[in-house]
Amino acid sequence: MMKISFPDGATRDYENGSSALDIAKSISEGLARKVLAANVNGQVWELSRPINDDATLKLLTWDDADGKNTFWHSSAHLMAEAVESLFPGVKFWVGPALDKGFYYDMDLGDKKMNEEDLLILEKKMNELARKNNPYQRQEISKADAVNYFSNKGDEYKLDLLQNLQDGGITLYSQGGFTDLCRGPHIPHTGFIKAIKLTSIAGAYWKGDEKNKQLTRVYGVTFPSQKELDEYLLMLEEAKKRDHRKLGKELGIYTMNDDIGPGLILWMPNGTIIIEELEKLAKRTEEDAGYKRVVTPHIAKENLYITSGHLPYYADSMFPPMELDGTKYYLKAMNCPHHHKIFDAEPKSYKDLPYRLAEYGTCYRYEQSGELFGLMRVRCLHMNDAHIYCSKEQFAQEFKAVNDMYLKYFKIFGIEKYVMRLSLHDPEKLGQKYVNEPELWKETEELVRNVLIETGVPFVEVKGEGAFYGPKIDVQIWSTIGREFTLATNQVDFAQPRSFNLSFTNQNNEPEIPLIIHRAPLGTHERFIGFLLEHYAGKFPLWLAPVQVKILPISDKFMDYSKTLLGKLKNADIRAEIDDRSEKIGKKIRDTELLKVPYMLVIGEKEVNEDKVAVRKQGKGDVGTLATDEFIAAAVEEIKERK
Ligand SMILES: [Zn+2]
Ligand SMILES: [Zn+2]
Repeated sequence: MMKISFPDGATRDYENGSSALDIAKSISEGLARKVLAANVNGQVWELSRPINDDATLKLLTWDDADGKNTFWHSSAHLMAEAVESLFPGVKFWVGPALDKGFYYDMDLGDKKMNEEDLLILEKKMNELARKNNPYQRQEISKADAVNYFSNKGDEYKLDLLQNLQDGGITLYSQGGFTDLCRGPHIPHTGFIKAIKLTSIAGAYWKGDEKNKQLTRVYGVTFPSQKELDEYLLMLEEAKKRDHRKLGKELGIYTMNDDIGPGLILWMPNGTIIIEELEKLAKRTEEDAGYKRVVTPHIAKENLYITSGHLPYYADSMFPPMELDGTKYYLKAMNCPHHHKIFDAEPKSYKDLPYRLAEYGTCYRYEQSGELFGLMRVRCLHMNDAHIYCSKEQFAQEFKAVNDMYLKYFKIFGIEKYVMRLSLHDPEKLGQKYVNEPELWKETEELVRNVLIETGVPFVEVKGEGAFYGPKIDVQIWSTIGREFTLATNQVDFAQPRSFNLSFTNQNNEPEIPLIIHRAPLGTHERFIGFLLEHYAGKFPLWLAPVQVKILPISDKFMDYSKTLLGKLKNADIRAEIDDRSEKIGKKIRDTELLKVPYMLVIGEKEVNEDKVAVRKQGKGDVGTLATDEFIAAAVEEIKERK
């Protein structure tokens, strides 16, 4: 018998040689029907592969990242089978799973594939999937594998084989298709119930433009038609909510060739949103005991050598400018500047925690191919802060930062979020990680406890911590379910050392502080890009560039409208009059397109009774209110940031 340990800590005995599928069946038939693969001792395996000794086992379903991964990679094989049946003689390079879906790169020889072929391929894949063909694993010697692919005439697989050691080589077959593959795969093709091939692209072999261009087909598959339908709906909705489209329509931002790629020009409407976000951040940070600072956009080379950015990250910085024989760099982050402010005056334990905040402007050299709207830019404005504290203060400070994230999520209606806690790998101390085993253990434990205590959903990943301390990546989902990485929250025990930072502790001895780097609102660029999609451009009242539009039915009511405008402005409400001589219907439609939260329609009755006829974005006519009543309600709505 062998002992199998499950993720919940339970253990059970099984006959040696039982497979993960046998074990799933012993738990429940329902579970056995939906498991896709298994994690055995940290490695993802086929369900059918026999387990011969004591092991830890996690059964993987569609809900696990590794389950989806196995599903999509298996779908790539299914697609290859369909391609081979329709394009005999095709040669295959690689077909990995992606974050969402999969692709396969192939050489079609002198044949070409077009968009219509994708539909034919989909049909073929559906037909093959319904055969429930098992994915069969076969261990093979290198010589036999070389033989097999030589006979097939597939030089790409032969190229892959060159780098494989004899002994660990496997082939996978399903139906009439065999591939050189490490696996693992799902049990059979019948799990793949819904298929969409999304696009065709050219891709150079091994990513090198000197090589031959291969055909890459992208696709995505699901275990049910319902999930595919939801996914396609989300894509369609995402297209409507594309921040580049909305950013233009709503006058949020623009870019210009003469300014340069990845450099955002914020238009008046976008600037209002920026200022509202900064107002919120300043208020929140002041309440939490932060002090604001302002630092220059450039610094001498030496600073970045101390911080470790040079030479290692020189590639992601703008090239230096030389001045009086000294090299200056545009800052890629604010931290070193803040450390110098901390260090400008001697600190004692009474000054700690010392919290410095700045909406800092940073410059990063992103490759031009990587630039994307507001999401990947070269100049960014970061909701940055650094907290210098003692070890004893750390847990409380870290919790306060976490609470700040949660507060923001509530304000912006972000309902789904996950924190990814990246830890160090003890085997790589001194190489990939600062050699402070005790500090690592201590801070990781503290961070973990805070996450548990605040009830924040989180996952732990070993071996992905930053060089200088554990790191938390915050992932959020927009209302249509698209994922964004918002910000990173990091603990740092290396920079305080390299910058020689210290404070006098209660025993009158110098002590090195810990630093927390945090940026809950990320950068203006990425966050406003996210908000555009999240709200579909329909910003809540407090963020809306124009909050109220006054629509006089005719010029007769212009005087009243102007007085009304004055009253709104006095109450700090951003308002405008639509003074065009258009029909009221057209004025309403145009204002709706601009997604203004409130419209006040002014006619005879309103003027005579000092009232406003209110139309609310998305709701239409919501009735007539006394002017003062409307203003009081709007002011309250803005104040509450509802
Ligand atoms: Zn494969
Ligand atoms: Zn920092």
